Amino acid sequence: MILVINAGSSSIKFRLFNDSDKKNPIDILDGIAERITIGGDVSFKYEGKKYEYEVALPNHEVAIKFILDKLIELNIISNVDDISAVGFRVVHGGTISKSSIINDDVFNKIKDAVKLAPLHNPGAITAIEAVKKVMPKAELVACFDTAFHQTLAEEQYLYAVPYSWYQKYGVRKYGFHGISYQYITEKMSEVLNKPKDKLNLIVCHLGNGASIACIKNGKSFDTTMGLTPLAGVMMGTRSGDIDPSIIEYMCKQLNTDASKITNMLNKESGLLGVSGKSSDMRDVAGGYFSGDSDFKRALNKYTQVAADYIIRFANLLGHDIDAIVFTAGVGENSAHTRQFTLQKLPLLDIKLDMDKNEERNYKDYKYISAADSKIKVLAFRTNEELMICKDTISLTK
Ligand code: AMP
Repeated sequence: MILVINAGSSSIKFRLFNDSDKKNPIDILDGIAERITIGGDVSFKYEGKKYEYEVALPNHEVAIKFILDKLIELNIISNVDDISAVGFRVVHGGTISKSSIINDDVFNKIKDAVKLAPLHNPGAITAIEAVKKVMPKAELVACFDTAFHQTLAEEQYLYAVPYSWYQKYGVRKYGFHGISYQYITEKMSEVLNKPKDKLNLIVCHLGNGASIACIKNGKSFDTTMGLTPLAGVMMGTRSGDIDPSIIEYMCKQLNTDASKITNMLNKESGLLGVSGKSSDMRDVAGGYFSGDSDFKRALNKYTQVAADYIIRFANLLGHDIDAIVFTAGVGENSAHTRQFTLQKLPLLDIKLDMDKNEERNYKDYKYISAADSKIKVLAFRTNEELMICKDTISLTK
């Protein structure tokens, strides 16, 4: 079996896959350990049943040990060696360009990238260290959200700042959500029956964190997030792009320092900031239709920024766009976000099928464009865990 781990500083999301069929691993269990260091809750779903535990979790190691003990107790595994490999989601891999076995060199690079992703990488590092102790025989693989974007050309990844910032300090666009983009690209190649290296897509990964990628010939050609996941489109609580001078200006207005303002741009902006009420698209779209002007302002801004990037990426692809794809929590589920975004793209001649767009029950994907639309548009369920599992299988024995 393969265990996939997506760890934050106080949580571990985990999914267990049976890899008897290496090409089609099946997920058998899905769970989360939360409030690590400040309390402890573990819950998971297995064979349709939900298991929930309240237990003291002082650190990641105790949490992973607890999860493994439960798997043994419930006869899901007979011992920890049944899990031959563990795949980790790592947000920032610096310039590592593909999923990798975690040897000393790779682990040091992940630690090095903490300075670029101080909110994200520490959780993965703590989890990797814990798994090394608790599962000493398992092979460990890291899958990076940045890796897919290592194909960006210089003119896309450089900022117009002193070149020495890039040379000395690694200031460049890295891009994120690459595991999701890789999954969608591979799946779209199957759905459209077109070789991956001929595929041109604009993929909108709109979740709580959100980004858009321009995929040319199956590779990332440009994307909206930058040095960190703060840049690009408007998100649940993150601002996306702003005039950089706002930071110094607001430091002076609030008599505070840049880290406080950056924290506000990460946690108090986006839908939450602009509406002043909620970061959740369900609330925003619901409020929009009940006439709430705060939510209306937020949804209008959100969809305008997304549309602005889509048209920019359409221009990079020219006349050869195979499809626009919406994915992640908002992209997969919010018909209104998709509708309002597409309506702000008059140059693309997209015809939306309103009924298909609003249909809630679909399995893996659905077309939301009408048959005579110039560009195909789909809503597609992403599966980052499956992608991590597949990469882990392909890299391990
Ligand atoms: P993710 O980060 O991909 O898990 O996406 C989480 C976000 O998806 C939530 O914060 C919601 O805003 C949004 N979301 C989830 N379900 C729905 C839904 N049915 N309608 C609109 N937005 C949704």
